[in-house]
Amino acid sequence: MAKINGNFQKLPGSYLFTETARRASAYAAAHPDKKLIKLGIGDVTQPLVPSVIKALHEAVDEMGHKSTFKGYGPDFGYDFLIDAIVKNDYEARGVKIGKDEVFISDGAKSDCANISDIFDIDNTVAVCDPVYPVYVDTNAMAGRAGDFGNDGRWTNLVYMPCTEENCFTPSIPSKVPDIIYLCFPNNPTGAVATKEQLKAWVDYANRNGSVILFDSAYEAYISDPSIPHSIYEIDGAAECAIEFRSYSKTAGFTGTRCSYTVVPKALMRGGVSLNWLWGRRQSTRFNGTAYIIQKAAAAIYTEQGKKETRAVIDYYMNNARIIREGLSKVGLQVFGGINAPYIWVKTPGGMGSWDFFDRLLDKANVVTTPGAGFGPSGEGYIRLTAFGDAESAAEAVERIVRNL
Ligand SMILES: *Cc1c(COP(=O)(O)O)cnc(C)c1O
Repeated sequence: MAKINGNFQKLPGSYLFTETARRASAYAAAHPDKKLIKLGIGDVTQPLVPSVIKALHEAVDEMGHKSTFKGYGPDFGYDFLIDAIVKNDYEARGVKIGKDEVFISDGAKSDCANISDIFDIDNTVAVCDPVYPVYVDTNAMAGRAGDFGNDGRWTNLVYMPCTEENCFTPSIPSKVPDIIYLCFPNNPTGAVATKEQLKAWVDYANRNGSVILFDSAYEAYISDPSIPHSIYEIDGAAECAIEFRSYSKTAGFTGTRCSYTVVPKALMRGGVSLNWLWGRRQSTRFNGTAYIIQKAAAAIYTEQGKKETRAVIDYYMNNARIIREGLSKVGLQVFGGINAPYIWVKTPGGMGSWDFFDRLLDKANVVTTPGAGFGPSGEGYIRLTAFGDAESAAEAVERIVRNL
């Protein structure tokens, strides 16, 4: 008799976005005359830019001719894309990354999840609280998280609260973790980490032999020139950190699927190269991202592609500004939205996250995401996203303000 992975049964039910979607559709069904504005989704809404569409068409045509047809690609991605990454995402910021340190993939979500494969079960994992649920649930599935307690925390995970007091950047925990997930600019709080803050983490990881898993899916949204885009801008990071990047939010690739992960050759644990481990893992379990898609991703790095993607990011960040300014004007405490497409709003009068969510849904017909869904320290907050269109952002703010 086959035995299932019992760790899955420990996962708490009702995933956050399933529940918010359920409440939103129940409301919509009961009030068909009301128009809901969705500021809850973490998905982009603007179409792919013309340079990307052109590259896609050209690559499709290549696939239709014997002389330019492509079958399986190189395990870790085509050189034309890896070269563009090394040059534009790293060299341009003064960081040296080797071509054989970049692994092209089909999503930062899958890579953040799959990285678990190269680590022993017996590792202590630290996560921010609130947190992108993928880091937590994948460690739970692997059996590394222990049991889910009544307090909303897994017994074996180290939670690093990110609160107003520490400006939503975690303090170094008292119990030394082996694996530390960091995500900056942050989803859900919109917070960023300074060079000094990241330096403290890198030094800590190197001192203790920990590994930092750095998710910089939102680096393109950084507007403050002093904020690092990559953890490798910090001295010593190549000895302790893996970085995840994605074209999903950078260039609207959520439905197109392309990302990459950097594992430096200098990163060794127990005498073994993590670059080798990840390469071995990927070449066994993954057969690469489609040629057509890698061509599309490379188009983002052309002069025209950069200009076009920048315009889309600016568009979203203008929404962020509308939301941030509109809500702070009426006295709500608002965080993020400057270097990230997320606005983290404190509920008024100490109201619970889900209560405020319901109130905004019922009264303002605006769908948000309750902060409590991202972890216990998210209680008392809601997350709004800037990924809608400008008219909806302005109207949503007006409705929220009218119905506080
Ligand atoms: C959206 C997002 C990603 C990107 O995931 P993809 O699988 O590349 O679409 C990664 N990390 C965080 C925190 C995100 O919010």
